[in-house]
Amino acid sequence: MGRISHKLALGRTLSFEFFPPKTTAAALTLGRTVAELATLQPDFVSVTYGAGGSDRHRTGDVVGWMRKDTAIEPMAHLTCVGHTRTDVAALLVEYRRTGVENILALGGDLPADGSPVAGDYRYALDLLNDVATTGCFSVGVAAHPEVHPRSPSRASDRRHLAEKLRIADFAITQFFFDIEHYLRLVDEMAAEGIDKPIVPGIMPVTNVAQISRMAAMSGAAVPRWLTDRLAAADSPAEIRKIGIDVASKLCTDLLAAGAPGLHMYTLNRADVTRDIHLNIGSVLV
Ligand code: FAD
Repeated sequence: MGRISHKLALGRTLSFEFFPPKTTAAALTLGRTVAELATLQPDFVSVTYGAGGSDRHRTGDVVGWMRKDTAIEPMAHLTCVGHTRTDVAALLVEYRRTGVENILALGGDLPADGSPVAGDYRYALDLLNDVATTGCFSVGVAAHPEVHPRSPSRASDRRHLAEKLRIADFAITQFFFDIEHYLRLVDEMAAEGIDKPIVPGIMPVTNVAQISRMAAMSGAAVPRWLTDRLAAADSPAEIRKIGIDVASKLCTDLLAAGAPGLHMYTLNRADVTRDIHLNIGSVLV
């Protein structure tokens, strides 16, 4: 039973996110990371998609490998950016052939240089419709607790998310550090009549420059209490410890508040995710 919708119906899920490797060395690292994290028995893992890039086949290669050679349930990310309907139809046929049952339908990151993007899809909702009508996949969508940076208002952000969640099986959120952002999002979806699972995405901070860059791109804020704690750290090891402690507390609080699962952004490293799991292990079961 590989569908994430079924797994979420049975209880809360644990999942890990990876990105596809670009070099042989990175592929070996991912292989080791997946093998190590597989011992934590995730309900599924997801593999990101390089929107607009020339390396899109890599996501298919990784999920195909997972399907064939591991016991892990993979979900392939898929984005609108630059795709024709014909491209997407061909990709979905390939995913069906390899036995992939889960797709995350996304808008996709726009090119950093601001260059225009061609393609048949404008919003994730359009792609979601095409994936969902095949009836062959459990489909998820992205949610942005602190509102997507391109949304003109909170109300419009929530209205478009609710539209997606009327069709999709579940959402996975962008990362956030204050639980209030997540709880407010869940309440706002309930007010729209949506009770589909919204799985929080957890990003441990292990590198201050990197997290600031990601937060600026995604519309998430790195709160003052966290930057103050990190600024007081005097070594990379201490920053790593703070990152793990903060993420572990957020996970524990989210589960206590009734979150339907935890989705961990691993950045293809096993050690940090493993340490967080160790901290929260007994809360998960
Ligand atoms: P959309 O739902 O299309 O929303 C984008 C903006 O358009 C929002 O402001 C929304 O409110 C607005 N909007 C939606 N519908 C309408 C409408 N009908 N009219 C007017 N406005 C509308 N990016 C990648 O490139 N590859 C990945 O693998 C990837 N994985 C991700 C995984 C997760 C869990 C998350 C949270 C994000 C991920 N992203 C990824 C980033 C994501 O693609 C970007 O944040 C993107 O800019 C928005 O994606 P979306 O699916 O929310 O888009």
